[in-house]
Amino acid sequence: MLDAAGVANLGGSEASECAADVVVIGGGPAGATVATLLAQQGRTVQLFEREKFPRFHVGESLIPETYWTLKRLNMLEKMKRSSFVKKRSVQFVSANGKASAPFYFEDNNPHECSQTWQVVRSEFDLLMLNNAREHGVEAHEGARVLDVLFEGDRATGVRVRLEGGETRTVRATVVVDASGQSGMLMNRLKLRTWDPVLNKGAIWTYWEGAHQDTGRDEGATVILQTADRQGWFWYIPLHDNRVSVGIVAPFEYLFKGRGTHEQVYQEEVQKCLGAAERLKGANRVSGYFATRDFSYRCTKVSGPGWVLVGDAFGFLDPLYSSGLLLALKSGEMAADSINEAFQSQDFSEERLGSWGPGLNRGIDRIRRLVCEFYDGFNFGNFVRNYPQLKGRITDLLIGDLFEDKVDEVWAPMESLYEAGKTAPVAWNSGTPEEVAANKLNELYIPAGAMP
Ligand SMILES: Cc1cc2nc3c(=O)[nH]c(=O)nc-3n(C[C@H](O)[C@H](O)[C@H](O)COP(=O)(O)OP(=O)(O)OC[C@H]3O[C@@H](n4cnc5c(N)ncnc54)[C@H](O)[C@@H]3O)c2cc1C
Repeated sequence: MLDAAGVANLGGSEASECAADVVVIGGGPAGATVATLLAQQGRTVQLFEREKFPRFHVGESLIPETYWTLKRLNMLEKMKRSSFVKKRSVQFVSANGKASAPFYFEDNNPHECSQTWQVVRSEFDLLMLNNAREHGVEAHEGARVLDVLFEGDRATGVRVRLEGGETRTVRATVVVDASGQSGMLMNRLKLRTWDPVLNKGAIWTYWEGAHQDTGRDEGATVILQTADRQGWFWYIPLHDNRVSVGIVAPFEYLFKGRGTHEQVYQEEVQKCLGAAERLKGANRVSGYFATRDFSYRCTKVSGPGWVLVGDAFGFLDPLYSSGLLLALKSGEMAADSINEAFQSQDFSEERLGSWGPGLNRGIDRIRRLVCEFYDGFNFGNFVRNYPQLKGRITDLLIGDLFEDKVDEVWAPMESLYEAGKTAPVAWNSGTPEEVAANKLNELYIPAGAMP
């Protein structure tokens, strides 16, 4: 029996009725994307989000290739009408304070897609979730999915505790896990592979009245390396005169034996002249947030009747702000595959996950650029040596990760290696079990004001 919200109230174990074509766990950007695109195709979609929106989330900088998914979602007009700061470039400042020329996205591709946005996530995620509702998704907030139901190895639905405390069973033909770093299925099915080299942490806060670039650079993300090259700062201008500024560095270096988050953050600011200058005279408007940021990926994107998208599939170090792109892109790829699965009535792992190898190739490319940066790659130096490849590097920075053309950059990059240096190891080349056992991604949210 279906109630007014279309949720099966099946009572006990008599669960037999299909309440929705698709159930989505989590209402972040990945969940909202997959849900909206499926509803556009006439599928009935139930989405369950454990929080009440708007809620805080880290990850504020979009990159241009999100444009195409936002377009399919009918989000572009909403983005254009929003207060979000327009982002047109990214710039790198090296450890000795030398700034690369900005990578202007429009110089690479003179199309409106080259302008993207710096978003306050509580606002952006709410916009995306409400957009899903407008397309017919039944999105429930304050509704925590407790478990994914299986018959044999086939996912058949979820058990969810609704806002009022009532527990229900919801049957579905396909279950999409978009639960972010909580990774419901990843944990249950032990699918996570920790990256062997990307073991970072982050501490960040929000400022008012900090330095603001002007004109074309007004919304630029600036990446500033610290003097001892141990870490880097992100500098992301947001609307209402706010800036998000965070330090990313090896986890052990950042958190072991160094005092409070505030002490560590301030010490790192002092090691980064560019960051210190930009923050001179600014007021801090929140406490200090912190995360352990170990990168990981799952060994597969799908199984019989289930699919993983966004951070529930994988998380990559935030250096190039690729998280939202990968959330939107995986949501889009998954929605197209799920639609095809309904057309062919084939809900096998292979049918639902046909997009997995393509997604992994894209993540491999941006991961390689992340690893090269941590291994000493210098954008300014590369462009001076290979000016004809500035466009290809910009392709990577805008998130154009899914075409072979970007692979042109690797051999020239290797030609600049110091003697004895080798290319980065693969994400799945192995993390010792005793190391993996101690890994856990956690978020510390301070009390008080929140963007
Ligand atoms: C320090 C840091 C900086 C970053 N900076 C950037 C950046 O500048 N740009 C960028 O693009 N990305 C950035 N990212 C990455 C970005 O935050 C993520 O990749 C992105 O939020 C992933 O979206 P998602 O929808 O997969 O997951 P989420 O946005 O985490 O959404 C998952 C949702 O699932 C819900 N949920 C979880 N469990 C359950 C459950 N059991 N039942 C119901 N709901 C559930 C959660 O409440 C949440 O709302 C950064 C990440 C970190 C850690």
